[in-house]
Amino acid sequence: MRRSLAFCFAALLAVLFFAPHVQCGQSAVPANAPCKDPSQPVDKRVADLLGRMTLEEKATMLAGSGWMESAAIERLGIPSIKMADGPMGVRSWAGSSAITNLPGGPLTVLSTSFPSGVAMAATWDTDLVKHEGQAIAQEVKALGRDMILGPTVNINRVPLWGRNFEGYGEDPYLTARLGVAYIQGVQGEGVIPSVKHFAANNEEFERHRIDEKIDARTLHEIYLPAFKAAVQEADVWTVMSAYNKVNGVNCAENVPLLTDILKKEFGFKGFVVSDWGSTYSTANTVNAGMDLEMPGGAPARAMISSPRSQLSGSNGAWLERDKVLAEIQAGRISKATLDDNVSRILRVIFESGLFDHPRAAVGEVDTPAQKAVARQGATEGIVLLKNTGGLLPLDAGKIHSIAVIGPNAAVARTGGGGSSLVRPKYAISPLDGIRERAGSAIEVKYALGSVMEGETPTLETPATKAALLQDAMNAAAHADVAVVVVGRYSKLEAESFDVKTMNLPAGQDWLIDAVEQVNPHTIVVLNTGDPVTMTNWIGKTPALVDMWYGGQEGGHALASVLFGDANPSGKLPVSFPKKFEDSPAYGHYPGENLHVDYAEGIYVGYRYFDTKDVEPQFPFGFGLSYTSFEYSGLSVTPKIFGNAPIQVRLKVKNTGTRDGAEVVQLYVHDGHAKIDRPVRELKGFQRVELKADETKTVEFKLDRAALSYWSPEKKDWVADPGKFEIQVGASSRDIRLRAPLELKK
Ligand code: BGC
Repeated sequence: MRRSLAFCFAALLAVLFFAPHVQCGQSAVPANAPCKDPSQPVDKRVADLLGRMTLEEKATMLAGSGWMESAAIERLGIPSIKMADGPMGVRSWAGSSAITNLPGGPLTVLSTSFPSGVAMAATWDTDLVKHEGQAIAQEVKALGRDMILGPTVNINRVPLWGRNFEGYGEDPYLTARLGVAYIQGVQGEGVIPSVKHFAANNEEFERHRIDEKIDARTLHEIYLPAFKAAVQEADVWTVMSAYNKVNGVNCAENVPLLTDILKKEFGFKGFVVSDWGSTYSTANTVNAGMDLEMPGGAPARAMISSPRSQLSGSNGAWLERDKVLAEIQAGRISKATLDDNVSRILRVIFESGLFDHPRAAVGEVDTPAQKAVARQGATEGIVLLKNTGGLLPLDAGKIHSIAVIGPNAAVARTGGGGSSLVRPKYAISPLDGIRERAGSAIEVKYALGSVMEGETPTLETPATKAALLQDAMNAAAHADVAVVVVGRYSKLEAESFDVKTMNLPAGQDWLIDAVEQVNPHTIVVLNTGDPVTMTNWIGKTPALVDMWYGGQEGGHALASVLFGDANPSGKLPVSFPKKFEDSPAYGHYPGENLHVDYAEGIYVGYRYFDTKDVEPQFPFGFGLSYTSFEYSGLSVTPKIFGNAPIQVRLKVKNTGTRDGAEVVQLYVHDGHAKIDRPVRELKGFQRVELKADETKTVEFKLDRAALSYWSPEKKDWVADPGKFEIQVGASSRDIRLRAPLELKK
């Protein structure tokens, strides 16, 4: 009896502890292990799971298993993280942009195309960007993925950067606020974001080889704040390193960036993932703080041996298991370092819920709710730059005909090119949107006017060009209003190369000029991600609207602004120089012999234009409305800053007859610092909706950080005691109210 009891007990133990080992496809982790208990602290779960891993399994986790998948350890129930590109929606994960861009490519993923980053930045609407993050994350889940490769928070340093459309403009504060909002939206859905590209990916020219010389102050004040905020405010789960070198070292193996700043100074707890094809070594990369190399497996090997990669300098497959193990064996990578790398990946797998609930594709894409976010973003992001004589909004009751003209009129140019370009189920072009809104009472004529560069080479003959221009003039001459939609497209503004010139391509300056000659009621619409030179025509143009790349709903959004259904409220997140030569980095771009000196330092964007008194075409923060706003009653309490935050209050009134929204901007001026400072820096903003005649009180809270600069001597943020000025306005050059503030010793 006793024997049989003992036997039963042993059998029970065997079932409890060993059965999972032998059952095929089941985890070798007992059901009661701490790592399996979601109520346990994440650190404990990580330590427990790590303790169950072999050295080989740990080393396996440092490289991806495919183009967009991290390695799974099935024995322990560690899932692969399935990624998808972003940030403006979910892009097919089938392979590189070249593959995914092929019409009818290997896997066609159709999802909502949200407005480009710069368009979302022009909304200055953090709530909306958070909703966008949420909506994108829902689509990530619906498509059975776990991670979205975005947001892009690199600063627009040069108007020619090929990826300006992806980022949030030139200001570190605005970029930080929007980046945090996007990440919170994504992570709130349990989806993993990747804030990119760390750090200072500000040109595409030779992006794998370019070495950027950037001083510590400039890095901290301009190029790092959005990453710092992502870590410290949004607790972001992953950071993607950049392709370029910073101060002589590839970002993927840059100890000062990855270890000293990101992990130690900022306190980043998640994992660093390499940009695709940006690693060049095993031990140096791992020891610098790279946790996961992407891509991995066969796709990585195919990528690095392709002639394209050899030309561009793309590299990878350095963190494959056996290479990592060999370095550990040789003592060049410590086991503690490996444990740290793996723990970081595990932490994110736990935090996101992926370990507890492996994901099946559930949900839908392109739902009415997601479309609504895309449309709201496209609408709020539109910036009205000029409106002489109140040409806009169009009065549908008075006009009978509209000529819609231009290479970007009849095609929906939803975004720039490269890894962020999403394929939507549908997309509304400006012409579609205007036709739909105009209805049958208004005749809408269309003329191409000029052929987009490189799009239809057969039409690029002198005779065809002249005929197209003539058609456009005829259409414009016989219409009440002409709308000329100009810009670039995803083959001219894209990642992996920069834009050639700030001028509009394909003779579009002539097109505008020709149309304006025959129709004084001409509205020019810009459809680009970058500022363009407009000195040839802006003086004569009565109305100018920037719709950026507005995603799939761009055409609807444009029509609603043109006809006044929506009151424009977008503000420029980037200064528009008159010409490239006026921009701060001119002369220090793209660099020589693969070296670029960020010699303009902190004087990026309006920090340069306003401090050095160079007049831009349109200043940072600028945007018109169909109504007007009055600012009054600025108060700063207390006026002498001690340790508690100060409160800034003012009133804003809609003094016109239409409802509208104003983006109130708060800048800090420091006239006494021991160090050279820009005349003003953005430290607060709020988008305020106001009904006609309505007044609202707007409040800001400022802490010491808003007064500080980064001191190279102290290697820290410093605010020098003395007198500051709080400036509140409607753009960096339209300061309406000023009030003093003193910082006590
Ligand atoms: C881009 C990243 C992108 C990655 C994966 C790279 O070329 O720089 O932004 O997420 O590819 O597609």
